Amino acid sequence: MELIPGSAVVTGGSRGIGRAIALRLGQLGTPVAIGYTRNVDKAEQVAAAIVAAGGKAAAIQVDVSKAEQVDEFIAAASQAVGPIGILINNAGITRDSLLLRLQKQAWADVLATNLDGTFYCTQAVLRGMVKRRSGRIVNIASVVGIHGNAGQTNYAAAKAGIIGFTKSLAQEVAKRGITVNAVAPGFIATDMTASLPANIQDQYLNKIPSGRYGKPEDVAAAVTFFCSASAGYITGQVLSVDGGLSM
Ligand code: NAP
Repeated sequence: MELIPGSAVVTGGSRGIGRAIALRLGQLGTPVAIGYTRNVDKAEQVAAAIVAAGGKAAAIQVDVSKAEQVDEFIAAASQAVGPIGILINNAGITRDSLLLRLQKQAWADVLATNLDGTFYCTQAVLRGMVKRRSGRIVNIASVVGIHGNAGQTNYAAAKAGIIGFTKSLAQEVAKRGITVNAVAPGFIATDMTASLPANIQDQYLNKIPSGRYGKPEDVAAAVTFFCSASAGYITGQVLSVDGGLSM
């Protein structure tokens, strides 16, 4: 698969879905800046794996919920791996609770990392993409942002926000050679879902027509498709990668 020219930024690339996306982009020959917030060792292992396979990569620390850190992060990423053609807004957190018990801080944190972070990173890379008249932005949403989920009002609101953001920005930049799409994963086996109680995990499994949890690589395959040179006429879309869960 041939990707568009330029380097890539993957936020939350140290673990889980972001890690699989970074490795796949690296395998396809794109230089990758891997954002992480705490797990420096894991992020550097991802970068080292890409370099060991003959690619180019750098691990760079950032808290995507802090606008000033994001500007420095994007500047450091371009310096390390070159002009950014691909942005994957993947960094995300959950703080689940029924609404009556939801702490205001848990609402704010989830919105700040998932939604504000997507806005900050996108704004920081967009000017360069507009100048070069080329870019691919892929936002990691969730099936929960489409269908809702009890106990996740904060997370569902953030992910629904990402979908509205995706479709609106897609319309703003379509004539500039930039596509903006979202991938909505279902239940993917990562640290995020490992923390769910076993009975909840089993309930999900029973509802997935494919009969298995998703793998981070399943999501990475959809993301890299949107970044391919041949996907230039696809924009403003939300692709569920969920084994049929949300049918
Ligand atoms: P994960 O395993 O918990 O990894 C989260 C990643 O985000 C880590 O790399 C983490 O960095 C980074 N991160 C967290 N807070 C950050 C911040 N403030 N600034 C920068 N980076 C930050 O999660 P995952 O399951 O791979 O999920 C990745 C994305 O997919 C998220 O947006 C999530 O909402 C979405 N998603 C996941 C599922 C699923 O079933 N797993 C389903 C639907 C959507 P550190 O390693 O440094 O902490």
